[in-house]
Amino acid sequence: MAKNKMVYSFGGSKTEGRAAMKNLLGGKGANLAEMARLGIPVPPGFTITTEMCNEYQRLGGKYPVGLKEKVKKALARIEKDMSQKFGDVGDPLLVSVRSGARASMPGMMETVLNVGLNEKTIKGLISKTGDERFALDSYRRLIQMYANVVMEMDGDILRDVLDGYKKKKRCKYDIELTVEDWKKLIARFKKEVKKHTGSNFPEEPWKQLWGAIGAVFESWNGHKAVTYRKLNNIPSDWGTAVNVQTMVFGNLGDTSATGVAFTRDPATGERIFYGEFLPNAQGEDVVAGIRTPQPINEARKSDPSLESLEALMPKIYRQLDNIQKRIERHYTDMQDVEFTIQENKLWMLQTRVGKRTAQSAVKIAVEMVKEGLINKKTAVMRVQPEQLDQLLHPALDPKAPKKRIAKGLNASPGAASGKAVFSADEAEELGAAGEKVMLVRLETSPEDIHGMHAAQGILTARGGMTSHAAVVARGMGTPCVAGCSEIEVDYKKQVFRAGNTVVKKGDEITIDGSTGEVFLGRISTIAPKLTGEFGTFMKWVDDIRRLGVRTNADTPKDSAIARDFGAEGIGLCRTEHMFFEEDRIAAVREMILADDEAGRRKALAKILPFQRKDFIGIFKAMEGLPVTIRLLDPPLHEFLPQTEKDIKALAGQMKVSPAKLKARVAALHEFNPMLGHRGCRLGVTYPEIYEVQVRAIFEAACRLKKKKVKVKPEVMIPLVGHINEYIPLEEMTRKVAREVMKKHGIRVQYLVGTMIELPRAALTAAEIAAHAEFFSFGTNDLTQTTFGLSRDDAGNFLRDYVEKKILSDDPFVTLDQSGVGELVEMGTRRGRAARRGLKVGICGEHGGDPESVKFCHRVGMDYVSCSPYRVPIARLAAAHAVLEEEERKKQARKKRSKKKKK
Ligand code: ADP
Ligand code: MG
Ligand code: MG
Repeated sequence: MAKNKMVYSFGGSKTEGRAAMKNLLGGKGANLAEMARLGIPVPPGFTITTEMCNEYQRLGGKYPVGLKEKVKKALARIEKDMSQKFGDVGDPLLVSVRSGARASMPGMMETVLNVGLNEKTIKGLISKTGDERFALDSYRRLIQMYANVVMEMDGDILRDVLDGYKKKKRCKYDIELTVEDWKKLIARFKKEVKKHTGSNFPEEPWKQLWGAIGAVFESWNGHKAVTYRKLNNIPSDWGTAVNVQTMVFGNLGDTSATGVAFTRDPATGERIFYGEFLPNAQGEDVVAGIRTPQPINEARKSDPSLESLEALMPKIYRQLDNIQKRIERHYTDMQDVEFTIQENKLWMLQTRVGKRTAQSAVKIAVEMVKEGLINKKTAVMRVQPEQLDQLLHPALDPKAPKKRIAKGLNASPGAASGKAVFSADEAEELGAAGEKVMLVRLETSPEDIHGMHAAQGILTARGGMTSHAAVVARGMGTPCVAGCSEIEVDYKKQVFRAGNTVVKKGDEITIDGSTGEVFLGRISTIAPKLTGEFGTFMKWVDDIRRLGVRTNADTPKDSAIARDFGAEGIGLCRTEHMFFEEDRIAAVREMILADDEAGRRKALAKILPFQRKDFIGIFKAMEGLPVTIRLLDPPLHEFLPQTEKDIKALAGQMKVSPAKLKARVAALHEFNPMLGHRGCRLGVTYPEIYEVQVRAIFEAACRLKKKKVKVKPEVMIPLVGHINEYIPLEEMTRKVAREVMKKHGIRVQYLVGTMIELPRAALTAAEIAAHAEFFSFGTNDLTQTTFGLSRDDAGNFLRDYVEKKILSDDPFVTLDQSGVGELVEMGTRRGRAARRGLKVGICGEHGGDPESVKFCHRVGMDYVSCSPYRVPIARLAAAHAVLEEEERKKQARKKRSKKKKK
């Protein structure tokens, strides 16, 4: 392989790079070169490659041999183009030194402007521009930036010196300072630099240049950049490139300006050139927010007192508008550009793909297809699955005033306000009375479901992203902030504290489950708008994907929501939530505490009609689509009261002594309920429980079928580890089904299958598939049992594991593909070998995680199942899986044909 050059020129007489060389030149450098190629005015410069950055790090902070020569040569090329000389006293060339990594890391790394200015060259700048104030201001900016970026001096010190000086002079803006003022300030700046860093500000231009280049390299490993990389999964060996570029000045009076703009509205996606600028200013002033930027065009003018660039410099505006149109057409994506106007001449300083909201992403993708800029596949790849989350939930009004009091985990997206309450019962009561409530708990448990349903949002002090509160809230589409350790919940006093703020019962609070933030008071929200473009976009998605997407739902309401979001059936209907409902928990408890089968059957008879009604509702909502119903799964003690007070109340209800009841509750206690008497083990011990559930399912199905409602039940037996557990339960299911169908004189098509959630089930998949008609991988439990890790207890140390990079992700959020995934892949393969056409799906939390969805596609599953609000996300991820697969194949073909040619 030919070795890459160390330095690539761009602009003026020579452009060597191009957009495709992002890895080597960084995004900024590659795009500066690309613009230059297009004939767009770019101040000439050169890019030192990312490889040099890595080499510099490898050498422990030394420049690779030969680099100095190359830089000298590249700079000489600019000097020739500009007819100026670096360090020249008569007409000095000044440059900026700009960082630019492969991926945009806005504001994370450093830039130094006006490099090359000193006590001598400033004279040249003055005589050239005839503006001494401007020249002095440029010089002090160099000192200020250089001291901060290169000499690592606290940026506040010089800023304070300047602010203090202005205050003393009663000036508001820099522009009011005189030549004498600037001279004094520069002297002061230099003194401060010496005082705080022990060194003099370097006057020698080459020393300045290398200092700045080194600082950019160093900034790659700066604290800010390292944190940003971690948060955004950017590998540390990518390195940053350094761009050295001729300075252009937007602060040379009224015919000069600087600004930033987007080729379309990044918030809404509207096809309007959108941006801001400042007359008579240098680049960093726009971002710094010292002065109020003005709108770029009349179309975007909101404040009549602010004049637009279009009105002030119509000719330049037209040129800029033409350029932005060309750039967008060329890149076929919305771009974010930086520009500077120096004395009526326009220069482009940067272009990159613009960041955008989900709404904007969808609109832009769809419209660009209609404009013939991109095809549908490209459009589908332009929106990230995770991004859709933003679209499906209400968001906080960005304009509303906010007082943030705490921050926890962004457990379930969306924003909501309500009165703080501290118990599920209270949430339900107030909710029924039409109040909006926010359920605040240390943590939640299955007993709180009714309160969680009634609440607008849920806030917990403990628990992680997969805590009960987080999982259930996501399933219900209710905003939730979990694990908010910054709040102290006091149930007794019915308050919580966050720092100095005390929130009492009934006080209004707002949470943003998309960011994890908690605010005091009510904040207005904006409802999600599912536009026509969203529908068009999702249709393209469905045309591409092959993987089915079902939902996890156990109420008719959730089923209907999921169906609206495109669910193609239910992959997991949990029946235990039905057991918790107010009107039946008493019968459930009676069943659990009964002494014998007869007692259990008596109680079960009371539960049957409720379950039948539940199933009727769900089947109706999912008419024509398959519904997988899981028979009872959790250990029975979860349904029992635990506190002294509740036990007493129940004893009264059941007409037994509290002591006897307490003894029963104690007897049901397990050391490790997750591995205890649950799942099909309950069905083995108490077949009558499963029997009644199956009866309810088929009675519901038959009644509906009589009314010509199409139903497709799939009965799922949980936690099977050995085929001998499955066989009798399957036989029972078929027997009850036959009985019920015979009684109704109706035939219903149905399947019986199992969850694969124990390693032994995956290993013996062939034996199980000989009997089971479908597999549904329960990857929550499969992850627990494969790792030997309890999800409820892992929250405390899993975060450590991820931080220390022992695990790259929380395996309960993103499927552990090499471990748990291996079992999934093997189970699928062995199962299908034993039974052709075995239906295979997944129903863990992973079913809504994009990376995990892609994995399921690769394994060849028939469907994934996820909570209703994640259905569109899973659909999009499934389409991405297909397109990424195509891309991989294309690359492989390319590689092969290249090899052949050789
Ligand atoms: P960032 O990546 O943080 O945006 P940049 O390298 O783009 O940093 O530079 C910061 C600011 O300085 C931008 O506003 C940019 O337009 C301006 N700037 C950079 N180089 C030059 C130059 N050669 N002439 C004029 N302004 C410049
Ligand atoms: Mg920039
Ligand atoms: Mg399970």
